[in-house]
Amino acid sequence: MLVLMNVNATEEQTQTVCKRVEELGYRPHPLPGATRCAIGITGNKGAVEADALSQLPGVAEVIAVTKPYKLVSRDMKSEDTVVRFNGSDATVGGTELALMAGPCSVESRDQLFRVAESVANAGARFLRGGAFKPRTSPYAFQGMAEEGLQLMAAAREAFGLLIVTEAVDHESLALVEQYADMVQIGARNMQNFALLKLAGRAGKPVLLKRGISATLDELLMAAEYVMSEGNYNVVLCERGIRTFCDHARNTLDVSIVPAAKKLTHLPIIVDPSHAAGKRDMVAPLARAGIAVGADGMIVEVHCDPDHALSDGAQSLYPDQFAAMVGDLRRIAEIVGRTLYEPQTKQQPQKKQQPAGAVVAK
Ligand code: PEP
Ligand code: MN
Repeated sequence: MLVLMNVNATEEQTQTVCKRVEELGYRPHPLPGATRCAIGITGNKGAVEADALSQLPGVAEVIAVTKPYKLVSRDMKSEDTVVRFNGSDATVGGTELALMAGPCSVESRDQLFRVAESVANAGARFLRGGAFKPRTSPYAFQGMAEEGLQLMAAAREAFGLLIVTEAVDHESLALVEQYADMVQIGARNMQNFALLKLAGRAGKPVLLKRGISATLDELLMAAEYVMSEGNYNVVLCERGIRTFCDHARNTLDVSIVPAAKKLTHLPIIVDPSHAAGKRDMVAPLARAGIAVGADGMIVEVHCDPDHALSDGAQSLYPDQFAAMVGDLRRIAEIVGRTLYEPQTKQQPQKKQQPAGAVVAK
């Protein structure tokens, strides 16, 4: 059920409707739009008694939502959601494309800072890097955990980047929430409903990656889990799905971008790195993602990919990343988007520690 308020409804009238919804035993989700506020109602098993709400002052219409997802739906909010970040003018879902780049895993201060400097200078506004890694093999590098998060936070200070990093379980989510600007929920956890609910209670925007065999509906329902707990800042991410094709690590399903845009107001970005699996295919897929209307991308970059502790084969060298961003700028113009242009070259603002990997392979 969805309550649409009048264009000139007051804040007090919206509050009164929310209170009434609570009295009925349900949860109200007020989502202000450009012209009017819509209040989504969750927690109801069957139909909500529409009369109890439609007569309240300021209410324009009470609409039954037939789709299984409600809060993520365009019925709830017709205009695009723009996700914002404290202390930054970077956005996801606005006119400016969101560019997130960095290593697959945080490996050392030197490794992270070198990549961070290069991607910041190329125009990235977000630094990616996993401190908790979901690896197929239990013997593969599992990440630097909290020490990795501390390095990410230091890189944020040094280069003015927002940091996005993955949480894999309840414990890591509590830590990631403290350090990161954006909490990544990985493909393998897209249907970890307990983790999604917890992310819904986190105070940070969530980057939700599509599961390797998830349909669009399943991805939207996963986002609905996060939103139903009160966190409305969710960004979807297409990172390739499992198909019969074996010429790439996964198949980048670019068609999900326009399909998602029809159904949801949430931003959607692409991850060409995990789709490609191979460095030489990353830039072409990235160009396709922006051409098809994605709101940005997340890309793996490493200064010494041959010695990366994870996903070296698909990591771009910094100069390849910069060249790719140049091409994306031209495509952005055609699709009516912009890409951030750094004004000055970034230099680390704090004295660097001596180089050297902290973690062994
Ligand atoms: C990652 O971003 O490094 C990652 C593990 O991604 P995904 O969950 O898409 O595999
Ligand atoms: Mn990776």
